[in-house]
Amino acid sequence: MTWTISNNELTASTLLNMESIFALGNGYLGVRGNFEEGREEEIPTIRGTYLNAFHDIIDVPYGEKLFAFPETQQKLVNIIDAQTIRIYIGEDEELVCLDQGSITAHEQRLHMDKGYSERTVSWTSSAGKEIRLTYRRLVSFTHKELFAIHVLIEPVNFTGKIKIVSTLNGNVTNYTDPHDPRVGAGHAKRLSVTDLGTSGEYAYIVDETMASSLQTACITRHQLDGEIQGHFEVEAGQVSFTASHFLSGPLSFTKYNIYTDSLRHGDHLVEQGIQLHQKLDAMSFDDLVIEQSHYMDDYWKSADVVIQNDASLQEGIRFNLYQLLQSAGRDKYSNISAKGLSGEGYEGHYFWDTEIYMFPVFLMTQPQIARQLLLYRYSTLDQARARAREMGHRRGALFPWRTISGTECSSFFPSGTAQYHISADIAYSYIQYYLAERDNAFLLSYGAEMLIETARLWAEIGHDHHGAFHIDEVTGPDEYTCLVNNNYYTNVMAKHNLKWAAKSCAILKSFDEPGLEVLSKRLEVTPQEIEAWEKAADSMLLPYDEALGINPQDDTFLRKAVWDFEHTPKDKYPLLLHFHPLTIYRYQVCKQADTVLAHFLLEDEQDIGTIRRSYDYYEGITTHDSSLSSCIFSIMASKIGNIEKAYKYFIETARLDLDNTHGNTKDGLHLANMAGTWMSIVCGFAGMRLKESGLSLAPAIPEAWQKYTFRLTFRGCLIGVDIQKDGVTLQLLEGNQLEMLLYGKRIILSNHQPFHQPLGCNSREAD
Ligand code: BGC
Repeated sequence: MTWTISNNELTASTLLNMESIFALGNGYLGVRGNFEEGREEEIPTIRGTYLNAFHDIIDVPYGEKLFAFPETQQKLVNIIDAQTIRIYIGEDEELVCLDQGSITAHEQRLHMDKGYSERTVSWTSSAGKEIRLTYRRLVSFTHKELFAIHVLIEPVNFTGKIKIVSTLNGNVTNYTDPHDPRVGAGHAKRLSVTDLGTSGEYAYIVDETMASSLQTACITRHQLDGEIQGHFEVEAGQVSFTASHFLSGPLSFTKYNIYTDSLRHGDHLVEQGIQLHQKLDAMSFDDLVIEQSHYMDDYWKSADVVIQNDASLQEGIRFNLYQLLQSAGRDKYSNISAKGLSGEGYEGHYFWDTEIYMFPVFLMTQPQIARQLLLYRYSTLDQARARAREMGHRRGALFPWRTISGTECSSFFPSGTAQYHISADIAYSYIQYYLAERDNAFLLSYGAEMLIETARLWAEIGHDHHGAFHIDEVTGPDEYTCLVNNNYYTNVMAKHNLKWAAKSCAILKSFDEPGLEVLSKRLEVTPQEIEAWEKAADSMLLPYDEALGINPQDDTFLRKAVWDFEHTPKDKYPLLLHFHPLTIYRYQVCKQADTVLAHFLLEDEQDIGTIRRSYDYYEGITTHDSSLSSCIFSIMASKIGNIEKAYKYFIETARLDLDNTHGNTKDGLHLANMAGTWMSIVCGFAGMRLKESGLSLAPAIPEAWQKYTFRLTFRGCLIGVDIQKDGVTLQLLEGNQLEMLLYGKRIILSNHQPFHQPLGCNSREAD
């Protein structure tokens, strides 16, 4: 049953987490897995529906506001709630819900092969009337505005009156928690109803945000056994549809909701919604399920990872891949928020999580989505240029640490704006895209400009000191060490960025010289500037400690005292919730992979001995308080040949949300970690890399596994990779011929002819 996630626990805390686990989405629209009948007042629920990038603008409150601190930030808004369907039975109209009557069976299921969720409830009223309800829900991948709910009502031991009340509610608020910095602290009410009513068989509500003046509409149509029978009531921000029926056999009720918004649909949101409904009129819920499962078949054809004989890990990896697909924005307004569309943690913001964690999965499974993610960043380039000026840089682009519409949303600059590395991370993803697709036209239209503008940032903030290029006062990925000079990660990523800005000009020179000339003129790039980038890259300081033989995280990191791990009780983690930042900054203690991550992304910058010693060193002082950490330690354990350790880290990450191991799944899923589990398998165990030399693999297999398989999409080819104890088999499933590297040796895969080879030794990098 590894295609289905199920839950039958009914405790309050489990149900809260399950709202995130059973969230449905399609990159545009996301709906948490809340119950149609609602929940008792005292039982916590975070009822949420979101449109990717649909946000309001709120003021950032500061005690002391200094120059260039962002004055406002964006916040993902919880929008019109279409989830509610209440069912009343009998003459006394008893509401079917968890806290009345009695539940004899309750199960939630997420069908990842088909792309819909299902909930079955067997319920007996206080007078002994028993019914069985099956709710099915779907957020369509092919009609992005559509969220549909189908309820099958089956009487078990009675016939009689039944009333169904379906509600559309425009009076919604966001969830807040003033005690957790990872969740919004205030500004709960951001929407007001500007229009509501009915039009023929449709109910609709239009809501508008308070400051960004964005509008969204939900337009709903109902069917009772295929017919429209019922009446509407409009009151106080809500439109309800009530249908009564004499229940004597199975009855089905369907609610089709279309969401439009002013970002994507301009104006006339209700009319457009009605037109979209009319196009779908002829499709039943079952038709939608069939269409959705065809979409899923296509996805799994290129994305599925199979782990033989380990159902629990198998379920974990499929769930993660499923949620990634549900979360990725597919238009220029949207990206992938840290929690996808499953919750309100981090207020719907996009971070570097996209480029360094999620992007690689899409690049190698769904390149068209990867391209779209790049285009989103490109669409914010002007704002990044403006931010660089605001921060005192004459040239270049500084991308925001967290954002929705392109401006900086981080109010705590030491672990926000100071993470300049995000600009190099974005550049890195453009380079990876080029290495995968070799798309010169894309490079000319978008990539080169992004690389040039980000390279300029390093030229601006870095400087030559005794012949080495230094970058001062930045924060690397490890947010427990802030505002440092020469953070190894930042410097090495900046070096790559600078080198590739120059290289992209050289590539374009041979591809389309006139095109390059136009670009260079527009951006005022001179040969001297290109030379300066190359010089800065060549002389970039990459900190190295002779005594330990490792790359220190920054200039002063190794001078600090090591955190007293021995006397830090378990309940004091994550440290960020229990210690002032300054206390943490004073010690050698890492929240997450930093130098170790740099060694993964740019492994050829150091020899394997340095990489291995650094791994051992940082492993001892890393808390993994961020969910972005363990997967990187897994990948790098594989790299240094310790497959069993890699496996241990992998297990920690694979089911992080399913098992709520970080304790905050209720606020949304950890998308970067989810992508990290794919990377732990594909880049870790199977050793996949994408470099100028091409695509390469160096597979190993954990002791506990007999076999694992996955697929890669690369330059129009689909490659099947099958790894077993006795060897690796590669097969070109689509495409005619492909050259790649296996354990460093060039091989040629040709059409439908499997290529088999025994596994290299597990300690692939033993020196
Ligand atoms: C991590 C960041 C990450 C953010 C959003 C933080 O806890 O330290 O690296 O970007 O979460 O996922």
